[in-house]
Amino acid sequence: MATTDSPQGMAAAEYPLVEPNPKTALSPKRWTLLNRSQDFVEALGYLSILWVIFTFLIDGGANQINDLHSTLGALDRLTALVATDLLLIQLLLIARVPWLDKLYGHDRATLTHKKLGKPVLYMIIVHFLAVVWGYAIAEGKNVIDEYFSLLNVIPDLITASIAFALMILVVVTSIKIARKKLSYEAWYLVHLFGYGSVMFAIPHQISTGIDIAGKPLAQTFWISAYLFVALNIAWFRLLSPIVFSAGHKLQIGKVVRESSDSVSLYVNGKNLKNFNATSGQFFILRIITPTQWWRAHPFSISAAPTDKQIRFTIGNRGDDTELIQHVKPGTRVILEGPYGVFTEDRRTKDHVILIAAGIGAPPIRALAESIAAKPGDVTIIYRVRDKNDAPLVDELNQIAKKRGFYIHILEGNRRHPKSWLPKSANDNFADDRVLQTLAPKVSKADVYICGPAAFTHAVSNSLLKAGTPANQIHAEEFAW
Ligand SMILES: Cc1cc2nc3c(=O)[nH]c(=O)nc-3n(C[C@H](O)[C@H](O)[C@H](O)COP(=O)(O)OP(=O)(O)OC[C@H]3O[C@@H](n4cnc5c(N)ncnc54)[C@H](O)[C@@H]3O)c2cc1C
Repeated sequence: MATTDSPQGMAAAEYPLVEPNPKTALSPKRWTLLNRSQDFVEALGYLSILWVIFTFLIDGGANQINDLHSTLGALDRLTALVATDLLLIQLLLIARVPWLDKLYGHDRATLTHKKLGKPVLYMIIVHFLAVVWGYAIAEGKNVIDEYFSLLNVIPDLITASIAFALMILVVVTSIKIARKKLSYEAWYLVHLFGYGSVMFAIPHQISTGIDIAGKPLAQTFWISAYLFVALNIAWFRLLSPIVFSAGHKLQIGKVVRESSDSVSLYVNGKNLKNFNATSGQFFILRIITPTQWWRAHPFSISAAPTDKQIRFTIGNRGDDTELIQHVKPGTRVILEGPYGVFTEDRRTKDHVILIAAGIGAPPIRALAESIAAKPGDVTIIYRVRDKNDAPLVDELNQIAKKRGFYIHILEGNRRHPKSWLPKSANDNFADDRVLQTLAPKVSKADVYICGPAAFTHAVSNSLLKAGTPANQIHAEEFAW
């Protein structure tokens, strides 16, 4: 192991490995169950949208349309109903609730959350303009004068306007160019305003929403929907991490240096099996010190978890991961999770290829330890700049040796900017050809890739060219 120093003691030469999983159910039944569960959840989402449109129609919402003023009135009601419903779905998708995470994984849930961002904003803009324009026509004023006079007339228009402004802020900061300029913490704080936006919007829905006030069925639907989302967020994001972490008495047991810029944190506690964490998953880790408690970050489990210990291996990538390199044993931590579907549960084949780059090694290392496999079933490919200073190389070699897995440590700079491979004797072969020589069963295997986004995309391209079906490629990108 590339142990350059060891503040709390040297890393053990041989890591005490746990017994691998006895077997993995590869039967198609598991997939059928997963697909049907996804269908069910998606159907509920679509039904909720149809329901709000239905309530609008049976209330005669479309019958009253006969001129511009009444058209604007109908548009204002319909866009408000559909956008609010989608907004609640959006909040649920990003809330990392375990039952959704198990079905879709955080990446897919986040992607859908992002896709809904602009349509929801556009509908709220239409709703806002339709309300003000409708009143302006009725009162013969221009739209701007009308807006300011409405502030005195319509109760809760001020809070609704604040909600609208906050929503614009959240969507604008989500756009790629803006995101690149923000630190994760700034982006995260701005996104908390999304909750503020929903809260500020509630009063005007109650006081002015003609689709809700005095309509018991609609009221029951909206109160249940709001409560369902609020309780999921309150329990899974706020309360359960605190309750579980305190109950399991989580604290840093030891910190072991793995390379010049990474350490392993051993989080100790009792009855940790109750977390039901599996190799390949990640937790949001919150270190409870006066300066770090408010900044939590996602980290993958780097060894198969046991009842007493969960381990993370963390590279120094920025301000917080720099501080983490020096965290003291005994420090309390809060774990939120486990999250993620980068697990053996998604496996479909006997043969497995595990591919990591740099600090993408932790989940790959944990999967290699616990995966159910016969000798020769698994190939590990670890892409590093310098194998004498890469985290977890020795442990991966140890696992490969013990379990009869193939292992290739690919060291050095990239052979050209578009390649994910280092210079080698096979330099005149394309990446996918080299991959086939490293893992001849590549097209018949499940492949797990973890590393930076560019690496993951380059490897996925090579896999597709080498004949691996897309549904056998499982990737975890360390990106937000
Ligand atoms: C699912 C998942 C699992 C991860 N597992 C590991 C792991 O096992 N070991 C490890 O070393 N790193 C892991 N990461 C990356 C790790 O979360 C970031 O390196 C860390 O949050 C950076 O924090 P910072 O304050 O030091 O960095 P900053 O100074 O804020 O930024 C440094 C870099 O890290 C990125 N980053 C910052 N915060 C996050 C965040 N919350 N999520 C993702 N990227 C972020 C920034 O975009 C930037 O590129 C994982 C990320 C994800 C999404």
